[in-house]
Amino acid sequence: MEDESKNPKPKSRRDFVKNIGLIGLGGIALGSSLYAAKRFEEKKKGQNVKLLTADGKLVEVDSLDIKSIDVDRLTELQERGREGIPGKSWVMVVDLSKCRNARKCIDSCQSAHHLRPEQYHINTLQMKDTDRTPAYHMPKPCQHCDNPPCVSVCPVDATFKRNDGIVLIDNERCIGCRFCIAACPYSARSFNWFEPKDAEKDKELAYDIELNVPQKKGTITKCCFSADRLRINKLPYCVSACPNGVYYFGDENEDAVTNGTTKETVRLSQLLKDNGAYQLMEELGTKPRVFYLPPKNRLFPFSDSSETENKS
Ligand code: SF4
Ligand code: SF4
Repeated sequence: MEDESKNPKPKSRRDFVKNIGLIGLGGIALGSSLYAAKRFEEKKKGQNVKLLTADGKLVEVDSLDIKSIDVDRLTELQERGREGIPGKSWVMVVDLSKCRNARKCIDSCQSAHHLRPEQYHINTLQMKDTDRTPAYHMPKPCQHCDNPPCVSVCPVDATFKRNDGIVLIDNERCIGCRFCIAACPYSARSFNWFEPKDAEKDKELAYDIELNVPQKKGTITKCCFSADRLRINKLPYCVSACPNGVYYFGDENEDAVTNGTTKETVRLSQLLKDNGAYQLMEELGTKPRVFYLPPKNRLFPFSDSSETENKS
């Protein structure tokens, strides 16, 4: 049977505008309301204005909640974001024997996705398997599961799995119900409880699904496998930023992954086999696309820095 989550239905512009009109204030600002939004954007902030919604209703909203949106650009980014990159099947390999909690991956990710300091798409967790084995650091992003429970619970098709394996979110559709947060066994998602860090700076940007920017209050954020970078043949932000060679990233179809630090490309199947790779909670049947190499042969002691608390 075809897995619908792997083959997201493309949305026509008409479908999009129709649907978005049903799901809240963000939708109200689109479609036929765009003209009205532009007309009133010069009005004094905090003043109530009347808008015509996509389904023909006249509503009154605070002018502070209105932003003009380039609908064509938004639609283009939404369609592209759902398509995925043809012929690719992205995977990440994390070598735990090399992570020294440099946190460059985290910094790079937070900067690219305009996250607040307390928000993480990837974080390093302190791990200790038994009393007799040393502690180690474990970077943990979204696992981009092939059988993602987060996708199957979303009531509005806002989060979806692409043909290239990446699980993304369309925050112009997200209604903030947080079902996906409850469904994810890896705690990979977080909710934008507050105004985004760069809300003022980003207010004219059209939302890019692949970059997950601008962040939007009341919606979900999580790791995107840097889909925007993959589209231009570059490695993900975190992978490129690591100084210690922790990350490999590549295409499972080509059986090849590239180390973000050394730029060495190796055979994926061999790397996994030679190092006893495993996946997180594989017994759940989620089929993660992130593989871990165990923290063996570490040549450095565990450093318990002040920033290594489990924050995700
Ligand atoms: S790790 Fe969580 S958010 Fe990511 S695809 Fe799997 S279930 Fe979904
Ligand atoms: S919070 Fe999650 S489940 Fe709810 S609409 Fe948004 S993406 Fe879908």
